[in-house]
Amino acid sequence: MDISVVIPVYNEEDNIEELTDELSKALSATGKSHEILVVNDGSTDNTQSRLKKIHIPGMTVISMTRNFGQTPAIMAGFHHAKGDVIVTMDGDLQNDPNDIPKLLEKIDEGYDLVCGWRKERKDNFFLRTIPSMAANSLIGLMLKTNLHDYGCTLKAFKRAIVQNLNLYGEMHRFIPAIAVWHGANITEIEVNHRPRIHGKTKYGINRVIRVFLDLLLVAFLSEYSTKPIRFFGGLSILSGLLSFISLVFVAFTKIFKGEDMTGNPMLILCVLFFLVGVQLLSIGFLGEINIRTYYESQNKKTYLIKEIIV
Ligand code: UDP
Ligand code: MG
Repeated sequence: MDISVVIPVYNEEDNIEELTDELSKALSATGKSHEILVVNDGSTDNTQSRLKKIHIPGMTVISMTRNFGQTPAIMAGFHHAKGDVIVTMDGDLQNDPNDIPKLLEKIDEGYDLVCGWRKERKDNFFLRTIPSMAANSLIGLMLKTNLHDYGCTLKAFKRAIVQNLNLYGEMHRFIPAIAVWHGANITEIEVNHRPRIHGKTKYGINRVIRVFLDLLLVAFLSEYSTKPIRFFGGLSILSGLLSFISLVFVAFTKIFKGEDMTGNPMLILCVLFFLVGVQLLSIGFLGEINIRTYYESQNKKTYLIKEIIV
């Protein structure tokens, strides 16, 4: 199998026929063997019954027991995909199936992951485009990747990239960063973006908070997931230092100015920083025990090998 296309759908009853039709035509035109995996993420409208009526060769419908969210739906598709290249796209017709050949060309050039860039985004400017621009620059800054558009679902992956991914929360937008962290060679190309005609967007402005929290987590994991003590230990030393400085200050004012230690608020700060320092160090040690359990109990490796030549 050359290409697997994974599409998460949640309440997209009026989009599904047109989408699969357009997609099937675009894929047939490539002349490559392909499959379409539609993941019905617990839709409560007629999406499932409409999907059942569609008979396109090579199309599989994976139906989730309830609405798990876009990231788990994409993961379910990944787990069932058989293609050498896996393409993800939205099920609301906002991504254009005719961009897929362009993505595949880049994969053929040797990239492991090609991201779509919705240069002319057709979404609400204030609620979507502006927050997304802010999020994109913050993500790029914190994860040290250089893409314009992390939120675009239209992406193509080599199989190996997908196999090593474990995504939680809203993390599908961080796949490029995680892939880079796994050593992948990534690029982006401009893709077409169309306004949503049928159905409603599933996200509001509150997604900003979720994405921000996930970003903090991914930034932490990308740097410290195999060495948590360096993060917590570092903060612990800082806290210890602040405690020591407070202590010196308290002692100084006592000895040279005769001020009462108990009446000095710096004494409370000294104790506070000391306790926080001890706590942080303990969390660091617990983290170290945790990662050992994680890697050793599952026989996971802390590295990835590209190839071995003998
Ligand atoms: N989606 C999903 N599960 C969810 C939310 C969304 O499978 O819980 C799908 C949705 O049907 C669509 C894609 O994810 O195919 C992107 O969602 P949407 O168009 O609402 O997001 P936006 O384009 O507005 O960012
Ligand atoms: Mg959309």
